[in-house]
Amino acid sequence: MPKDISQPPESAKTILLVEDNEQNMKLQTDLLQAQGYNLLQSVDGRDVLQLAEDHHPDLIIMDIGLPGVSGVDLIKLLKAKDTLRGIPILAVTAFAMKSDEQLIRAAGCDSYMAKPISINEFLESVKKLSR
Ligand code: MN
Repeated sequence: MPKDISQPPESAKTILLVEDNEQNMKLQTDLLQAQGYNLLQSVDGRDVLQLAEDHHPDLIIMDIGLPGVSGVDLIKLLKAKDTLRGIPILAVTAFAMKSDEQLIRAAGCDSYMAKPISINEFLESVKKLSR
């Protein structure tokens, strides 16, 4: 589809990536940067609330298994804050049992994806959620 040059380019969206696994972080970072997203990173989840408060990202991509803290609890904390609950959260996790998915969804995430991620599905979800 031809680009409408009368429209200013859409400003790049900012995504907060929460992931403790170095390889997964690199994969997601490379994929998203190639699409032009601005990225913030949290490698252990401890600074997520602060990063979210400071930068108000357009989307948070949340790993669930993190050192010392559960992504499920972080989702609950984010969704409990008036100033932050509007930020969409995509949970990405290797906990792929049905009961895990229900628990994670019940915490308030906006979307859920099991690892290993399908690249197209991942980028499609990110695009939809960060709109
Ligand atoms: Mn993890």
